Amino acid sequence: MDFTLPEHALALQRTVRDFCQSEVGPKAREWDRSGTFPRETVRKLGELGLLGLSTPEEFGGAGLDAVSMATAVEEVARFDGSLALTVASHNGLCSAHLNRFGSEEQKRRFLPALATGEKLGAWGLTEPGSGSDAAGLRTSAVRRGDGWLLSGAKTFITQGSVGEVFVVLASTSPEKKQRGVTAFVLEKGTPGFSQRPIHGKLGMRSSDTAELVLEDVELPDSARVGEIDHGFLDTLRILDRGRIGIGALAVGLGRGALEEAARYAKERKAFGQPIAEFQAIRWMLADMRTENDAARLLVRRAALLADHGRPFTREASMAKLFASESSMRACGKAVQIHGGYGYTDEFPVERYLRDAKLCEIGEGTSEIQRLVIARELLAA
Ligand SMILES: Cc1cc2nc3c(=O)[nH]c(=O)nc-3n(C[C@H](O)[C@H](O)[C@H](O)COP(=O)(O)OP(=O)(O)OC[C@H]3O[C@@H](n4cnc5c(N)ncnc54)[C@H](O)[C@@H]3O)c2cc1C
Repeated sequence: MDFTLPEHALALQRTVRDFCQSEVGPKAREWDRSGTFPRETVRKLGELGLLGLSTPEEFGGAGLDAVSMATAVEEVARFDGSLALTVASHNGLCSAHLNRFGSEEQKRRFLPALATGEKLGAWGLTEPGSGSDAAGLRTSAVRRGDGWLLSGAKTFITQGSVGEVFVVLASTSPEKKQRGVTAFVLEKGTPGFSQRPIHGKLGMRSSDTAELVLEDVELPDSARVGEIDHGFLDTLRILDRGRIGIGALAVGLGRGALEEAARYAKERKAFGQPIAEFQAIRWMLADMRTENDAARLLVRRAALLADHGRPFTREASMAKLFASESSMRACGKAVQIHGGYGYTDEFPVERYLRDAKLCEIGEGTSEIQRLVIARELLAA
C-alpha cells in the first residue's frame, strides 16, 4: 500500500502551495476583517487551473481526479478557509453537477467559462425552511408551455452574489417528495431572479454567501439538468464527492493550526524557557498532528475509492465528520497554545477556528454524517 501522492498531485500541491504562500497567506487576514471577496486572487486561481480541476479537458478543465482535488483544497485551506470554500464549492457543486448530469449542450455552454473562472458557479439546494431535510424544499418548478416556471428562495448559497451560473433544485412533483425534485441551470440576469448577499457570518467571511430569490422565473426545458424528478438522487451523488472536498478543507485548516501553533510554541517563552518545552503543550501538538494525519488518510481513502469507481458514500461522510471535528479540536488547541494572542487576529489561528466551524455544518451537519454512516453500516 502506497501512502504517497502520485506525481501529478505532488506537482499540483507544490504549485498551489507556492501561490498561496505569496498571494494568499499575507492577505487573508485583511480579506477576513473587511469581509471582502478576493476577486483578483480568484481570477489568478482560474489562471492556475484551480477552477476547472475536475472539469474534463475537452471543456477547458484540468480533468484531474478526486485525490488531486482534495490535495489542492487542503493547500488553499492551509492559508485561507474562505478561499478554499470558493474553490471546493465552485468545482465540487455547480461545475460538478453540470459535468456529471448536464446535457452536451449545457456542458459546452457553461463549463468552459466556469473552468477558467471567467464565470463563477453556485449551487442552490438549501432554503430558509429546509437544510438537513433537503427534500422538504419548497421552491417549485411547474410546467409553463414547453418550459418551466420557478418560484421560491434559496439561502446560504456560496458564490450566491458573485456567481453568474446557478444550478438550483426545485420541486416538480411535490407529492413524490425526494423523488419529485429536478435541477435547473440559470444565469445571472434572468428576469425574476435576484441575489442578496448575506453578511455577518462567524467565519468564512471572505467567501461569498447569498440568498437567491426566484419570482416566476421562466426557463426553457433546455435549462433542465438531468431527468425530471431525478434531481435529488443526483444531488446525493454530488454531495458524496462534495464532502470529500469539505473534509480536505478541514484538514488544511487543522494543518494550518498545527503549523502555526508549533512555530509559536518554539518562540514564546514562559518561566525561562520556550513553551514547547512544557509537556502540556507537547501533548496538545502531538494530538493535533495525530488527528490531522488520520483525517487526511480518511479523506484520501474516500477520494481514492471515488477515483476507482467504488462506493464511497460512507467513507466520504466519515472523512468529513472526523476531519471537521478534529479540525475544530486542533484550532481550539492552537488558540490555547497562543494564549491571549490567540484570541486576537494578530495570529491566524482564531480565524482558522471560526472557519473550521463551517466544516461541521456545510454539505451536511455532523449529525447528518452520523445518520449516513449508521444507516450504511446497519444496512450491511
Ligand atoms: C457559509 C455557508 C455556506 C453554505 N453554502 C451552501 C451552498 O453553496 N449551497 C447550499 O445549498 N447550501 C449551502 N449551505 C447550507 C448548509 O448546507 C446548511 O446550513 C446545512 O445543511 C444545515 O442546514 P440548516 O442550516 O437548515 O440546519 P437545520 O437542518 O435546521 O439543522 C439545525 C440542527 O438540527 C440538526 N438536525 C437536523 N435534522 C436532524 C436529524 N434528522 N437528526 C439529528 N439532528 C438533526 C442539525 O444537525 C443541526 O444541528 C451553506 C451554509 C453556510 C453556513
